[in-house]
Amino acid sequence: METLNKTWFIDIDGTFLKHHSNITLDDLAQEKDGHLKEIPIPNSIEFLKKIPEEDVIVITTARLSCHKKHTVKALEHLGIRYDQILFDVTSGPRILVNDIKPPGVVGNKESITTAYAVNLIRDEGITPYTQLIGSEHKKIPTKYLYEA
Ligand SMILES: [Mg+2]
Repeated sequence: METLNKTWFIDIDGTFLKHHSNITLDDLAQEKDGHLKEIPIPNSIEFLKKIPEEDVIVITTARLSCHKKHTVKALEHLGIRYDQILFDVTSGPRILVNDIKPPGVVGNKESITTAYAVNLIRDEGITPYTQLIGSEHKKIPTKYLYEA
């Protein structure tokens, strides 16, 4: 049986923690309590805490895996729930590709869009003005994805 529970791919820096570069993280990771110097973005933390338990959270970050211990400690300290963390992704655009659920698959009458993207202003977090960009109303040439 297919499920409509969501999977969230969420960035760290500038999204729910104030942005740090890997250079700054090199220093923080070496400090004894460096994880306490991570600054949460309150509206994003609040948003994350409201994600239903049944949904899966995959944190995707350009932080290097050598900063894993520091990062995990910071997330634990802030009470951030997640299922997996993917380190070492690029700091370039992240593109999610998924197929549309045709009518009937989960008792749905209309097809269901399954790929969304949200672009945030760095360090401002998820606000009521954050725009969700789905794909149902826009046809984007595949070429654009490579150039984005
Ligand atoms: Mg970021």
